[in-house]
Amino acid sequence: MLPWNRGVPMGRAVTTPPTSLPQQERIILPLPRGETPLVRVGDPVSRGQRVADGNGDPLPIYAPVSGTVAALDTMELAAGGSCLALILQNDGLDTAADPLELPDDEDALWDSGVRLPGGRPLAQAVTQAAPGLDTLILSAMDREPWHCTEDAALCLDADAVGAGLAFLNRLLHPRRTLLAVGAGQHQAAHAAAPLDCTVMTVPQRYPLSHPQLLAESLGRLPPGQPPQEGDVLVLPVSAVAAFGAALQGTPPIRQRVSVAWKRGHALIDAPMGAPLSAILEAAAAPDGPLLLGGPMTGSPLRHADGPLVPGITSLCVLPPRRHRNGTPCIRCGRCAAVCPMDRQPWLGIGHCLHCGACRYVCPAAGYTPSKEEVLL
Ligand code: SF4
Ligand code: SF4
Repeated sequence: MLPWNRGVPMGRAVTTPPTSLPQQERIILPLPRGETPLVRVGDPVSRGQRVADGNGDPLPIYAPVSGTVAALDTMELAAGGSCLALILQNDGLDTAADPLELPDDEDALWDSGVRLPGGRPLAQAVTQAAPGLDTLILSAMDREPWHCTEDAALCLDADAVGAGLAFLNRLLHPRRTLLAVGAGQHQAAHAAAPLDCTVMTVPQRYPLSHPQLLAESLGRLPPGQPPQEGDVLVLPVSAVAAFGAALQGTPPIRQRVSVAWKRGHALIDAPMGAPLSAILEAAAAPDGPLLLGGPMTGSPLRHADGPLVPGITSLCVLPPRRHRNGTPCIRCGRCAAVCPMDRQPWLGIGHCLHCGACRYVCPAAGYTPSKEEVLL
């Protein structure tokens, strides 16, 4: 059964304030994309100081705490592979660097260091869409209905969203700017009302939060010429809020992480570079296999020893896996009934959004994650 049938709003609304992660002694900042450190071992650093720059993918990294550069070492990434990392020893003094100052042009997007959920630079998405953009859509819905990072960004950082949105409207001159909220996100809809955009309510139906579906449905509303492919840019509100905060002087050094598990959820506000294990502990999440994202579309993490990096906005903990023998497809048709693209998933024909809805409902035990392993 899909989430909307269980009464789960799409997207999830924040019900309690986020929990702030206690101070962490060590902060690990991976430099996986060719970033080069601007500091050396032993250097003092202030919170908000630029400590690494890009090389080819030019996004800077800012120190989330004040302290000392303890090491520059190779680390193993939770998603696999390894990279160089800056390790900061937190001095607990929270000494702040000067407020960030960004230029009033496209370079501000790169200098802000903001990445979209998943890790793609915000600047890349915006600059690729810039020529001839028809519709800018901000989405206040997380990709999966168990998470509420986007709702929290709008409810708690509306000022920053407004600052980021004003800059994007000025830079891109879209014919119209829309903001998509789920039908259950009343507080978010209220917070969006003063912003320079049209608020559109999306029905509680997964996967209508998918950027492609939002672009196809909202991108053609209200009346007017349907935009050509590529004329619609969908951005998550959390990235626009992070960019707006950077324009206001605060680089992206903290991030809210939505943590979901069977019948439980927490929203944790953590500095970049904090261990994921500390975030799970603060959330009081149970032990179990970890996913980056949600049970529909998430990707497995091998362990929780790695640090929080830009792009990680949600985690979920599955119940411990049981050994199951795979069973073949029984041609029940449930997957086809829920597929938003009218596919017959067992045949593997046609365009797929990789929304995971078919896997969610499939009773065949060999198809994972099974319905025993999902969160509701
Ligand atoms: S076939 Fe693709 S689009 Fe259809 S439900 Fe499955 S993952 Fe989603
Ligand atoms: S839901 Fe699973 S078992 Fe049913 S038709 Fe689709 S793939 Fe086959």
